[in-house]
Amino acid sequence: MTHRIVVIGAGYAGLPAVKRLARQLRHEQVTVTLVSAFADFVERPRLHQLAVGQPIAHTPLVDYLDRSNVLLLVASVTGIDPAARLLHTTDPSGRRHTVGYDTLVYALGSNIELSTVPGVAEHCIGLTGVAAALDLRARLTRLARHGGSVAVAGGGLTGIETVAEIAESYPGVRTKLVTRGVAGGWLSAQARGYLADVFARLDVTVVEHATVEHAEAGRWVLAGHRSVPFDIGVWAGGFTVPTLARESGLTVHDDGRAVVDETFASVSHPDIFVIGDAAAVAGPWGEQLAMGCRTGGFTGLPASNAIVAKLTGRPPKPFRYRYIHECISLGRRHGLVQFMDANGFPVDRILTGRKAILYKNATLNGAKLLFRHPGPVIPRRRRPLSHELTVRPVLAAVDPPVR
Ligand SMILES: Cc1cc2nc3c(=O)[nH]c(=O)nc-3n(C[C@H](O)[C@H](O)[C@H](O)COP(=O)(O)OP(=O)(O)OC[C@H]3O[C@@H](n4cnc5c(N)ncnc54)[C@H](O)[C@@H]3O)c2cc1C
Repeated sequence: MTHRIVVIGAGYAGLPAVKRLARQLRHEQVTVTLVSAFADFVERPRLHQLAVGQPIAHTPLVDYLDRSNVLLLVASVTGIDPAARLLHTTDPSGRRHTVGYDTLVYALGSNIELSTVPGVAEHCIGLTGVAAALDLRARLTRLARHGGSVAVAGGGLTGIETVAEIAESYPGVRTKLVTRGVAGGWLSAQARGYLADVFARLDVTVVEHATVEHAEAGRWVLAGHRSVPFDIGVWAGGFTVPTLARESGLTVHDDGRAVVDETFASVSHPDIFVIGDAAAVAGPWGEQLAMGCRTGGFTGLPASNAIVAKLTGRPPKPFRYRYIHECISLGRRHGLVQFMDANGFPVDRILTGRKAILYKNATLNGAKLLFRHPGPVIPRRRRPLSHELTVRPVLAAVDPPVR
């Protein structure tokens, strides 16, 4: 009789979590299963690079899971039944599976929100995944042949990185960034100055204090009877999280992020741990940690430690986090690292130019290194489960996972 831990979502939070769990518990007592919609790891912070034709590494999840004893099921989770401790999934060939769990780690992340502003889903494109990035790439290639314009809406991190990458790769295409407030408005004055300088060099027109009311074929319609025309409209207006947590009855904030305690356990369902962008993690920074791999990427390991502590009858260590930096690529020649205080406010220290690009690449590659080695180089002695947990009956049959 084994205790079944199932991790859903193989992003910056889920991937390190799943391996860390398998590393710390006895395999004869625990099965650890990863359920992922895709067979490859999707490096979301490089999707804008993929969209302009740069090669980005595709790493199959099985490579990361090699010799970890983690079972992989490539399937989308379509429902969670917390009372029966069951997941409903559909694999890429349309087959349905039912997966039972005793402990669930919910790491389904976030995605670009395309539905709030009317017309966006019909007339624009958002970097929602690999397929969308390849679609944008095809459209940009066609546009570059005869010239035209791309307008990116959203002055946050994703919009800034996307417009800069397009401007650098397609100098013959006119690029605009449209934003409600100020582009990079959360950055220090020094960083905003650098950003404005790079946008001027890349010939990006920045339209600030412009609220997009809706999108039509070929233009953003702004408040105040203004509009911005485009051949390609890219939407980067913000992230939203999957509705599955809310639909499953977990306590969530208004924005759908699951409310968790300091060990990442759902406040309504203590056997469900929520990490990454999907979790609303409270701390000295406020009610919620910002969404990002620089934040969510640091939740997988402590959550795994907390789960191991719970299952082995030890006191869990509360989560500690401090913001350090925000790394922004501005094409491949320019970049910006904004250093932060512990609570996420910018300080007067930035890194720019190629050094910043190198720094950002090092952090993204460092994350992937962590996926391979999510713990001490020499694995700790695997811990036995506490008696109370080993005698608990298995609640449901698990369909055989696909390796
Ligand atoms: C273009 C772009 C640039 C970015 N740049 C930065 C940056 O510079 N710095 C930064 O900190 N952040 C950046 N981000 C944000 C960052 O990528 C995310 O915040 C981060 O990936 C969140 O990690 P996560 O593990 O919570 O979720 P994700 O990495 O989104 O992982 C969630 C996983 O769950 C899977 N999944 C979702 N639904 C289901 C389902 N129903 N069934 C099965 N699997 C499912 C997904 O396929 C995915 O594998 C960027 C995002 C984009 C799009």
